[in-house]
Amino acid sequence: MAKTLDDYRQELKIYNSLTGKKETFEPLVPGHVGMYVCGPTVYSHVHLGNVRTFVSFDVIYRYLKHLGFKVRYVRNITDAGHLEDNSDEDKISKKARLEKIEPMEIVQKYTVDFHRILDKINNLPPSIEPTATGHIIEQIEATKEILNKGLAYEVNGSIYFDVIKYNKEVDRYGKLSGRKIEELIANTRELEGQDEKRNPQDFALWKKAKPQHIMRWPSPWGEGFPGWHLECTVMSTKYLGEQFDIHGGGMDLKFPHHECEIAQGKALSGKDPVRYWMHANMLTMNGKKMSKSTGNTILPAEIFSGDNDKLSKPYDPATVRFFFLMAQYRNVLDLSEEALQAAEKGLKRLWDAYNKIDALPESKETDWNLNAWRDSLYEAMNDDFNTPVAVARLFEGAKTVNQIAQGQKHITAADKKRLKDIFDTFMFEILGLPREQGEGACTQNLDHVLRILIDLRNQARKNKNWELADRIRDELAAMGIRLKDGKDGTTWEIV
Ligand code: AMP
Ligand code: ZN
Repeated sequence: MAKTLDDYRQELKIYNSLTGKKETFEPLVPGHVGMYVCGPTVYSHVHLGNVRTFVSFDVIYRYLKHLGFKVRYVRNITDAGHLEDNSDEDKISKKARLEKIEPMEIVQKYTVDFHRILDKINNLPPSIEPTATGHIIEQIEATKEILNKGLAYEVNGSIYFDVIKYNKEVDRYGKLSGRKIEELIANTRELEGQDEKRNPQDFALWKKAKPQHIMRWPSPWGEGFPGWHLECTVMSTKYLGEQFDIHGGGMDLKFPHHECEIAQGKALSGKDPVRYWMHANMLTMNGKKMSKSTGNTILPAEIFSGDNDKLSKPYDPATVRFFFLMAQYRNVLDLSEEALQAAEKGLKRLWDAYNKIDALPESKETDWNLNAWRDSLYEAMNDDFNTPVAVARLFEGAKTVNQIAQGQKHITAADKKRLKDIFDTFMFEILGLPREQGEGACTQNLDHVLRILIDLRNQARKNKNWELADRIRDELAAMGIRLKDGKDGTTWEIV
């Protein structure tokens, strides 16, 4: 008998970073899933590595919803509290000070940009997108509570979490990242601003604002701002409960950010806040992690427009999304021209096959096992969201479509409808691919058409047909496309 969605829902396995094992997924409340993912710090454009992580969790969200779970997906916006490495200054506050504008102008600009990019790449919006600055009161309350429990201390207007005491009295600190507190102590260097702490592992729940710090709020300990780790604890538990199902983020956030979240959550409620920790692996470029701080980045907009010196042509958001899906989210993925080209070709193959389905010849019998193929797609997704295997199964489906089109295989009218449904479900609903090409492909097509026109104009000029040559130039200009004649030939730009 064919399996049902209820069957598939029981078989979902998730790799839990906390236990290091793939576990059968059992939500706290049957039929419901609470999922929190650390969002961006909105002080600059998101790079393609950030986007990869958000696409990974978008596919996870889509699949959970498809299985019939009622999902509440919370992804925050970090608009305060994230300090520059090795410094006491908030990233947004610093940028606002340097550019002499309001911190909220920085936040607004990059939040809008972030939403635009995720929209282009076809991510669904989360159910709730809370901001750190919108939850200052909750963060002050949580800080008070941890102080009352004796697991934090005040020094000169700042409040620090007492890691050593937590480790002794509550639970082992380091259990997510597998670090031992003794090693942490031995390995930490004294960094600027940490002299206030009793131990270098302690982290700020609340920081006193220095005079030049623009983003500041009143608190029982004077004017200051909340710590980055605390915002995620407060916002996740506010909307999902003191214990919830899934917490995600990039691998680089495991330590210290998520380790601190566990400690804060457990200090507050006595419970482990998260049941399944999920970590997405890094996007690399030239083998190195894509990262703002090292400058090894490419922006999504630069890829979609082709305006970059790393790739030879623009790539469509759909191609970029498909490129991400060709790796499992827990594996490192390296950005390269070859990989993008393979994704572009592969996606076209799937679209072509999908568009052939309606016109396939119908037979009295179907001579391939549609149920087994459908099962194999669910098995791939149920195996910790293994998208590259699901994509490989879709390619098998595309191959069969082509065989049916050529009369080598057969399908009934009813199965043809099911076949289309399965493609619809996996390509569009779960993997979130768009139904057609978008921006990058349009630019590419336009470029092809304009090259033909530029050739025709050159030919006309050679033949001294000035009338035709001018007409091509002028009519394009009237459409807002300017041709520029240079020593390396003619180029075009949109004005
Ligand atoms: P940030 O704005 O730096 O806090 O990062 C937002 C999200 O992107 C976090 O979940 C990071 O772990 C993730 N991230 C940062 N760099 C990369 C990368 N190179 N590849 C994949 N994810 C990344
Ligand atoms: Zn976080």
